[in-house]
Amino acid sequence: AKDAGGNQLMVFNPAYREALEHHFEIESALRDAIGTKQLHLAVQPQHTPDGTMHGVEILCRWQHPELGRISPGIFIPIAEKSDLIVELGQWIVAEALQVAAQLPDHLTVAINISPRHFREPNLVEQVLEQIHLSGVKPSRLVLEVTENLLVDDLQGITNKINQLKTLGVQFSIDDFGTGYSSLSYISQLPIDELKIDQGFVQGIGCEQQNKIVETIVSMGQHLGLRVVAEGIETKEQLDFLASLSDTIVCQGYYFHAPMSPSALLDEIAHSAHV
Ligand code: C2E
Ligand code: CA
Ligand code: CA
Ligand code: CA
Repeated sequence: AKDAGGNQLMVFNPAYREALEHHFEIESALRDAIGTKQLHLAVQPQHTPDGTMHGVEILCRWQHPELGRISPGIFIPIAEKSDLIVELGQWIVAEALQVAAQLPDHLTVAINISPRHFREPNLVEQVLEQIHLSGVKPSRLVLEVTENLLVDDLQGITNKINQLKTLGVQFSIDDFGTGYSSLSYISQLPIDELKIDQGFVQGIGCEQQNKIVETIVSMGQHLGLRVVAEGIETKEQLDFLASLSDTIVCQGYYFHAPMSPSALLDEIAHSAHV
């Protein structure tokens, strides 16, 4: 009874109650949104320093008729707190493969996979089924996972990664440098790519941050991994990254904001650069 009283006090705290109501409002609106036109996918191109397009990252967008545009920074964490992330993640994978099928087939397509979705027992079968249905070459698919996926059940996670890799699917460690994984795990895992967290990229220009970025790039290269830098907004950031590596893959507003797949297709049709 004492505990219940404690919880009630919490619920009657107006700020807490508002946050809670907001959470459930968004969760329930999202449940209804999956599979409707409210949700769509944006693509953000990735280039090597010479301007060649390497691929795209898929980013989910939600436009609610009354609540307006809701950022994935808000709704993804809410979906992750419930099983909704699994339904949403499945929809995103299927939809992203449709986008991939329309893009030139030398471009990779990176999809963010939440830990909870990756841990679903039938994840491997589902992804393979969607790849098969889309007709997309598995090696064009890059699954972006975060270091936090790797903190427990490393064996189970590694098995899944290996099953998908056997078919050619690639793996990237997103937000590299911000999570809790150990470097020894990273070096042992069959991954293809490190994605330097945009926080480090935005620190370029400050001597200490430059050294961190330089160290991550050289570590990635020594491990034989592709290195991607995201969140590039300025020429200074790009020039610094390009001075470290001419194969580094670059992504950010400096090149392109996330855009609709059809806008990208238009751009590709009018450009000699890809
Ligand atoms: P993320 O995976 O690290 O994605 C990069 C974020 O940086 C995206 O924000 C992108 O729009 C933004 N961004 C790109 N270039 C720049 C730049 O030059 N400067 C700055 N400041 N930001 C840039 P977005 O689309 O709001 O997504 C936020 C996060 O939500 C993502 O971070 C990811 O964790 C999650 N998310 C987005 N879409 C999906 C999805 O389809 N599935 C899952 N599981 N998570 C997603
Ligand atoms: Ca639904
Ligand atoms: Ca990402
Ligand atoms: Ca990231």
